[in-house]
Amino acid sequence: MESVEFLERGKQLMNYIIDYFDTVDQRKTLPDVEPGYMKSLIPEEAPQKADEWKNVFGDLEKIIMPGITHWQSPHFHAFYPSGTCYASILAEMLSNSLSCVGFSWASSPACTELEFAMMDWLAKMLQLPEEFLSTGEGGGVIQGTASESTFLMLLAARSKALSKHINSSKSIKKLVVYTSDQAHSSVERACLLAAVEYRSVPSNENEEMTGEALEEMIQKDIDNGLIPFYVVATLGTTPSCAFDRLLEVGPVCKKHDIWLHIDAAYAGSSFICPEFRPLLDGVEFADSFNFNPHKWLLVTFDCSTLWLKNKKYLVESFNVDRIYLESKEKEKLLDYRNWQIPLGRRFRSLKIWFVLRLMGINNLQSYIRKHVELAKEFENLVRSSEKFEITHPVTMGIVCFRLKGDDQLTKNLHDALYKDKRIYLIAGASKSRYYLRFVVCSQRTTSDDINYAWKVINELSMTSLRERL
Ligand code: PLP
Repeated sequence: MESVEFLERGKQLMNYIIDYFDTVDQRKTLPDVEPGYMKSLIPEEAPQKADEWKNVFGDLEKIIMPGITHWQSPHFHAFYPSGTCYASILAEMLSNSLSCVGFSWASSPACTELEFAMMDWLAKMLQLPEEFLSTGEGGGVIQGTASESTFLMLLAARSKALSKHINSSKSIKKLVVYTSDQAHSSVERACLLAAVEYRSVPSNENEEMTGEALEEMIQKDIDNGLIPFYVVATLGTTPSCAFDRLLEVGPVCKKHDIWLHIDAAYAGSSFICPEFRPLLDGVEFADSFNFNPHKWLLVTFDCSTLWLKNKKYLVESFNVDRIYLESKEKEKLLDYRNWQIPLGRRFRSLKIWFVLRLMGINNLQSYIRKHVELAKEFENLVRSSEKFEITHPVTMGIVCFRLKGDDQLTKNLHDALYKDKRIYLIAGASKSRYYLRFVVCSQRTTSDDINYAWKVINELSMTSLRERL
């Protein structure tokens, strides 16, 4: 494709994207296809001869869109948001065009230096302790996902723990990780990947991990000759957006010299608003902190920001040198290749830079507050109904609710919603209650969309209740 054609096609695709966003609310949120739907729609072999743009473009609506779950629809209320905005999309276009692989400072200095700067901007926006800034022993790095961050910090924590024990090959079998029974599945998975013991700490009645429950488990393991080395606390759990008691968990980790990692994948973005920042109190005890701007800060997937107070356990422990990786610059710490698992890395800081500059902190705060307000609107609708009940406190953009009565009623409603496909919600279960999670996800969600979702839920709940009679 030559430049003139690129411009032409680019305009066509831009128009398509704009139209998609403007009309996405009219599409069914969930696709109407069965597994394997694409098999009959695409040839089994790649084309020998180049196809024409008009055919490829035409196939978007025929082949791709029928199988898209519309995460940007104002009727998407599942999981947590996957944010995006025009500023971020523009940055992605540029990043994709430059296609530079900034694993070392020299391999693309702007790539490295903008990332240092953006991680400091964000750290200041969240009022993270100074030790997390790049000016000292600490610093920040962009990872692809929160799961990678949790795993990477486990590896750093393991290096630190093993450096304290002389007989490390024996010690490695004694290492233990702790997290709440409400923590994301990625914590358990990180333990499986690293082949270390995993403990699920029972949460309290509010689904928070307490210092007391953690201390009890840790002490038992120490008494049995094991080595507790890594605790993951969650701020904004996946099932219900509960917040672990950081001010209790932190001192326990400090007392036993255990690495404390905070997973604030979703809720982390809200800490840019002064009214939500107290939820982060206790972060001073943490060794590392992570949240996903790609969830709730309008930065396009993927962009997961991770800070460490002391990067040496990550950077020095896993450094492998080759002549082709050699840095002429003496400051090795500038090479981000040592802060992550792969060698290659994308220019992801560009989209943070575009979003922060083109939106400004004020607009991002308003966006977060709007989502919380809309969640409150939904909560009020639920509370005004005799049939439904709220199951968890509503602090962010998520409302957990259920039909009064036995779990089967809510399960039937969930099945009916999934079959109906107009709106998309997923379920949660905790303390033996089954409930639905309603999350405000799209940048475009309005009060009308909240009322629409409530109408659909009510309509389908009638069927669920009638089936019971
Ligand atoms: N941690 C929490 C608390 C989450 O809610 C999620 C996903 O929703 C994750 C981790 C996983 O995020 P990622 O897909 O970035 O690994």
